[in-house]
Amino acid sequence: MARRRKAKNIGELKASDYKPVPIREEMRCILIAALRKKKNIFPGIIGFDNTVIPQVENAIISGQDIIFLGERGQAKSRVMRSLVVLLDKEIPIIKGCEINDNPLAPICKQCRDRVAEQGDATPIAWLPRQERYGEKLATPDITIADLIGDVDPIKVAEGRYLSDELAIHYGLIPRTNRGIFCINELPDLAERLQVGLLNLMEERDVQIRGYRIRLPLDVFLVASANPEDYTNRGRIITPLKDRFGAQARTHYPVSTREERIIMEMERRTFDEDGIESYTPEYMKEIIAEITHLGRKSPDINQRSGVSVRISIANYETIVGNAIRRAVTLGEKLAVPRITDLPHIHSSTASKIELEGFEEAKEGKIIDDLMRKAVFNVFNRHYRTTDLETLVAQFAEGFSVEVSDMMASKSYVRNAKEIVGLLQIIEKVCEAERPEMIASATEFVLEGLHVNKRLNKTKQEGKIIYRS
Ligand SMILES: [Zn+2]
Repeated sequence: MARRRKAKNIGELKASDYKPVPIREEMRCILIAALRKKKNIFPGIIGFDNTVIPQVENAIISGQDIIFLGERGQAKSRVMRSLVVLLDKEIPIIKGCEINDNPLAPICKQCRDRVAEQGDATPIAWLPRQERYGEKLATPDITIADLIGDVDPIKVAEGRYLSDELAIHYGLIPRTNRGIFCINELPDLAERLQVGLLNLMEERDVQIRGYRIRLPLDVFLVASANPEDYTNRGRIITPLKDRFGAQARTHYPVSTREERIIMEMERRTFDEDGIESYTPEYMKEIIAEITHLGRKSPDINQRSGVSVRISIANYETIVGNAIRRAVTLGEKLAVPRITDLPHIHSSTASKIELEGFEEAKEGKIIDDLMRKAVFNVFNRHYRTTDLETLVAQFAEGFSVEVSDMMASKSYVRNAKEIVGLLQIIEKVCEAERPEMIASATEFVLEGLHVNKRLNKTKQEGKIIYRS
């Protein structure tokens, strides 16, 4: 909506072309305009273009509240938060109102009194769309007071009329009036709160401490739940379930390519550390592959899921170890290697649940995932039959030592001694920098090992590849 200058009070607002619209209409209009222009509305959402996003768009076009069903780490929060792009950049509210009252039709008693008193001179404020989003994780300790509001006993004691809204201390949902409110893990919300929520949405009134209070809010309600909790009988009261006109089923990235895009987007980076780092594609592929294999593993509890956050954390971990090495050894460039991989035990173990009582096997399960991931990724880049000249040199008694704290220069010496190695690693090594050569060398050696072409032994913190 084009405005020459922002109205400062109700009189100026009335004189402008501003027309208040209910939130569902507002979101719908903005969505339809964007679809017409073929504009990408959710640019930060990866891999949901043909699945989740059409469901969300249909729900908004139909004016339905949405529940997102999905396992943990499936970008549910990201999608929900991104819905604010479907709101006007800013809207006018009565200045100082706790529930973002529409200046042309205030609902709270305080504002109605003010407008009666000050008329067109009543000051207004402009609320940016980011401030029109509220969310809450459903936990057993949430109360009606947190979510909806409470009667202020002092004000009641002062003799205010009990249904007088001046006696209410508003909770989170009224404070998100004219906005989007999201409840995460809805099935964990106590039943009486679900009832309160339903009344608020359907009847537009609430019962607080036995007082019935009218509260005609305009809120777009969004919720999330684990599919299993959602289908579990009795976890959500039926009328509230019916209230959600649309279900959007989320999922993990279908391809490892999408997994890698998300990893890159979400990982924590630091600008000022002065250390150059570079992660070869094959290392990112291995990290994404570990997660994808984890999602198919019968040893891992798939109901709680294998989050994209594991990929992100593991990526950060191998980069972290590479930086630690670079700093310790005084090298210029930090490049993750295969020998950095065991460090992901710490970033993986805390984020998966194992089937049954398999805690003792945890280390082995993660090791197996890593081995299979290296196998799959290596065999996408190389055919072992092309590497026989390399294997033959090991058969003649050659061996190579590697470790995560070994200087890159010693790998370069090896690479020069092994005939043909430099040509082989060229395929995955972008530049002839020692740190990159070290990483690519490890990739090829480990690849040959998992293909049973080389033996691997551990000795005093080092790994030795030999025939
Ligand atoms: Zn108000």
